[in-house]
Amino acid sequence: MRMASWSWGGREHVGLISADGREATPLAVADASRGVLALIQALARGESLPQTSGLRLPVDVISLRAPLPRPLRSLFCVGRNYHAHAAELATTVFAETMPKHDPWPIVFGKLGECVIGPFDTVRLPSPGVSVQIDYESELAVVIGRGGRDIPRSRAMDHVCGYTLVNDVTARDVQMRHQQWDLGKSFDTFCPMGPWLVTADELDVQALRLRGWVNGALRQDGRIKDMIHDIPTLIETCSRGITLYPGDVIATGTPAGVGMGLNPPQWLKSGDVVRIEIDGIGAIENRFGFD
Ligand code: MG
Repeated sequence: MRMASWSWGGREHVGLISADGREATPLAVADASRGVLALIQALARGESLPQTSGLRLPVDVISLRAPLPRPLRSLFCVGRNYHAHAAELATTVFAETMPKHDPWPIVFGKLGECVIGPFDTVRLPSPGVSVQIDYESELAVVIGRGGRDIPRSRAMDHVCGYTLVNDVTARDVQMRHQQWDLGKSFDTFCPMGPWLVTADELDVQALRLRGWVNGALRQDGRIKDMIHDIPTLIETCSRGITLYPGDVIATGTPAGVGMGLNPPQWLKSGDVVRIEIDGIGAIENRFGFD
């Protein structure tokens, strides 16, 4: 099942996207402003989804929004979670803080307010604020049934589904403050979408994740190559903290970010970043000052 949020006819809607990605079926949700959150919560309560009016729309005529345009709270984000990506940062300013066989993942927060739609424009900050804007293609896990102290062995029972995010980052700001949250949370710095695919439809370990800048392939990774796998991430984030239906865990990016290139290549106005995960879909965002 593909759950989506979109604008059409001057209103916000929530509903389902057909398996071929071509048709949208709106569902009777009272408040669509928070996207598919109401659907995730209904499923977590064991309820069925709201009724459909029977209306069907071509996806071409709707404007997809982020499936969770206003998440409940900050996103849980995981840093350096692919071996090849950790290696490409080993020669950067991150070298001094590289984890040495650390059994614990790096986890930081990204403000939920920076989420934008799958085809929206990412606003570059003024050069006085940051000149090192980078992309990070990531799989995002969306929590279904909530819980605290969730063990690895039961973690996948708490997954509603998956979507894509670009964990856009101001590298200079990220490094300046020791903690990463500020450099990760500029307005518009979290493109998300194109929809949420429920976990029953995917063999998530088998998925391939790719990212392009202006049509040139930069990132090409496999979910199975994560250092800390999805059950570990859910176990870690829920230690002492209750996870709620709709919480998002961004699972880290594979190798090939701009910072890892020699010399580094930062995003500039007019650049277009595309991220795709087989079986889920693609998002594509232009970067600009407007
Ligand atoms: Mg990231």
